[in-house]
Amino acid sequence: MIEADNFDALRWLRIGYSGRVNCIYIEPIDPSPTIDQAVNGGFPWLEIQCSRCKTPSDVDLAAMKRPPTTFVHDLASRLRCQKCAKAGRRPSATLLQLAWQPRHPKAGV
Ligand SMILES: [Zn+2]
Repeated sequence: MIEADNFDALRWLRIGYSGRVNCIYIEPIDPSPTIDQAVNGGFPWLEIQCSRCKTPSDVDLAAMKRPPTTFVHDLASRLRCQKCAKAGRRPSATLLQLAWQPRHPKAGV
């Protein structure tokens, strides 16, 4: 798990995509699917976790207003924990994995 604040954590996440960071677990497509690939691959839900409060949530990739060629990994900096947003915080999100159905409340985008 990454215990850091916004920018450092994000930068660290990007560096970690080479497979050295265990908590970034994107499956079944690896290493860097686009939104289009994930949705068409049957995994339209991205499971994330708030880096601050550790609350997991799901993102509906098909409903995102982003170009379908956007890399799923690049979404991390756009996703916000609604719980923390209410407290005036904007922590970064940790990507957990792609999923074929939602398992948590929707995340704010
Ligand atoms: Zn949070």
